[in-house]
Amino acid sequence: MYQLRKDYILDKWVIVSSVRGKRPVQFQKEESSLKAKDCVFCPGNEDKTPSENFRFEEKGKWTIRCFPNKFPAVGGSTFPKNKEKFFQAEPAFGYHEVIVDTREHDMQLHEKNITHLYNLINVWINRILYYRKKSRITYVQVFKNHLKEAGTSIFHSHCQLVASSHIEKLVYEKAIAINKYKRKYKKCPYCDIIKLEKKKKSRIAFENKSFTAICPFASFYGHHVEIYSNRCIKYIWELNESEKKDLAHILKKVISKLGKNNVPYNLVIANGIKLKPFHFHINVAPREFKEGGFEIGTGVLINSVTPENSAAWYKSK
Ligand SMILES: [Zn+2]
Ligand SMILES: [Zn+2]
Repeated sequence: MYQLRKDYILDKWVIVSSVRGKRPVQFQKEESSLKAKDCVFCPGNEDKTPSENFRFEEKGKWTIRCFPNKFPAVGGSTFPKNKEKFFQAEPAFGYHEVIVDTREHDMQLHEKNITHLYNLINVWINRILYYRKKSRITYVQVFKNHLKEAGTSIFHSHCQLVASSHIEKLVYEKAIAINKYKRKYKKCPYCDIIKLEKKKKSRIAFENKSFTAICPFASFYGHHVEIYSNRCIKYIWELNESEKKDLAHILKKVISKLGKNNVPYNLVIANGIKLKPFHFHINVAPREFKEGGFEIGTGVLINSVTPENSAAWYKSK
């Protein structure tokens, strides 16, 4: 099957080709290259990280720990805007925090239990709310890169948070497209998408009372999945207690499937936007396949696994 598919919201197209998906793919297990005693994220080495912003403790020991990133992508830069033709630039102002999401050096997030994931969700909320209040911050994103191929440089499991004064183009374009739909139909497009996808069933990976995990119709990547709250809320901190527990359950299912198969992935909570917020969801983008020349030249991604097959894969034993 070869198909050009349009994104739900954006004027963005993706080629879906099940034929290319038949190529052999090997998942390689990434080994811990560093012993715990030399790892800066391990217990005992707390003095080797920048000073701590926040910690979550159980039985007197930290199980989640947050501190500024030593190598931030954004910072307190104050140089003036450059409006010169061809050379426009502005400072990348913001904050970049590391959230070490487990005490154990050799344990990845998908191996942790539901209670731990629930605690981590509360820490994400705490950190997002903390940075959102800072002046000049307009956008906060929490993300996790699992395995080297997904961009992580440190083996010890961790998430990151970037708070910036700049709303990234993709998020901004999404917000604009959503508002256009809202004006036209007087309702939230994601609520309509969830309803229709539930009816069609073929792209549903998992669902529970509060959440639906969908492999989007025009998925950019094989096994790409988006986890939507069934209730139309805008931000993660609007979740009530039972919804947070349901999120922990569905997250565990998604990342366990990827983790057990050694699939590198990026997990993104992308809607910490201040202006024009939209329906809360978490984006999980596996990174099994590298972009080739066609993708680089055209910007059109070729997805080798159909979203329908992706959903079936998630549900398979
Ligand atoms: Zn470690
Ligand atoms: Zn909605």
